[in-house]
Amino acid sequence: MNYYSTNKQAPPVSLQEAVVRGLAPDRGLYMPERINTLPASFFEELPGLSFREMSYRVAMAFFGEDLPEDTLRELVYDTLSFETPLVRVDEHIYSLELFHGPTLAFKDVGARFMARLLAYFIRRQGQEKVHVLVATSGDTGSAVANGFLGVEGIQVHVLYPKGLVSEIQEKQFTTLGQNITALEIEGNFDDCQRLVKQAFMDTELNRRFHLTSANSINVARFLPQAFYYFNAYAQWKRYNDPSKLVFCVPSGNFGNITAGFFAWRMGLPVERFIASNNRNDVFYEYLQSGHYRPRASVATLANAMDVGDPSNFARILDLYGHSHEAITAEIAGARYDDQEIRDTVYRTFKEKNYLLDPHGACGYRALEEGLKPGESGIFLETAHPAKFKDTVEDILGEAIVVPKRLQAFMQAKKQSIPLSPAFDDFKAYLMQQKGFNK
Ligand SMILES: *Cc1c(COP(=O)(O)O)cnc(C)c1O
Repeated sequence: MNYYSTNKQAPPVSLQEAVVRGLAPDRGLYMPERINTLPASFFEELPGLSFREMSYRVAMAFFGEDLPEDTLRELVYDTLSFETPLVRVDEHIYSLELFHGPTLAFKDVGARFMARLLAYFIRRQGQEKVHVLVATSGDTGSAVANGFLGVEGIQVHVLYPKGLVSEIQEKQFTTLGQNITALEIEGNFDDCQRLVKQAFMDTELNRRFHLTSANSINVARFLPQAFYYFNAYAQWKRYNDPSKLVFCVPSGNFGNITAGFFAWRMGLPVERFIASNNRNDVFYEYLQSGHYRPRASVATLANAMDVGDPSNFARILDLYGHSHEAITAEIAGARYDDQEIRDTVYRTFKEKNYLLDPHGACGYRALEEGLKPGESGIFLETAHPAKFKDTVEDILGEAIVVPKRLQAFMQAKKQSIPLSPAFDDFKAYLMQQKGFNK
């Protein structure tokens, strides 16, 4: 299947090219040229299928033309080494817990899938080594580093701003070793991003190395996020809840929710979606006014949603033929400030005995306030509350339990290479790596 750019100024490309490039040359985002629907028999069988098996069948609809069946099955099974349980929090509100993977956030699914798909393409082409460059302000680095950990043929270089990521986040990508190197940049996140962009434009580096990025707009990270919407539905069916189903997604760059729209187009029986924002509410405003006005992000307690110009907005416009009317007919919005997030985490813990993280809190609250009679809602609990330990403990006024695998990161030894924000230093570091001809 081919992939076209949302800007329509670049030619359609193969899956492999879309994955290796990430962004289209016209700076648009790649979209699959078709969204195949799944047969009614699939939905009948769904409640009896394992997460891995249902995801494999969903993956077939996207990637079946481009990969051998066995390869795709192995890839999906290997990616999904953990479950995404659905937990009932209130009579008609359920939490889809996406934090049971290696870095305790939903980004594990896309990062693990992309790593394995890229490794397959490298093997098929007999390429020597691919270098993945990622700039991170925290969470992307950990998901990508852990997703690519130990994957043959790929060397990952994570650039992060010294002193500007939380200790938990830092430990998740500086303690891994193997094919993961952390570069501690004496600068801010923008410096890290600039270094990566400059490397992609540097002729000498590109002659010597195969460089690629692993950012969240990549189709290989984005599309697999559709898998767990099917798993949510399958588990929800087992509750025998007769109402209509609403999904509510705490959103930043809008990749997660857009993957849900794909699942919907594939035939998943959903009534509507709610996109929940923190104070970075450009999408909310777009829904109200029809005007999209990107702006600088502001810092909030739900920091993975601090996005002032969501990159996947281009995919949403494309899916809905640029019609504001079509978008508002199917998608509602909500937005919460820090105080509302705090109140929601506190109240839900005290009254429902369920501990939300600050992102999930936006999702839960939008369902509490927005469900209509006859509807029930699933919100995506996008990260484990212990990833935001200080915030959550401050809200609750008591200590929370940190899962073992998060503790294990905390106890491991940080290893990083300090670098100045000067491109020459970064380039000199890269030139020491193993390239095409060594
Ligand atoms: C990345 C992230 C989000 C936002 O997801 P998008 O796909 O960018 O909308 C929400 N919550 C957490 C915990 C995240 O890490």
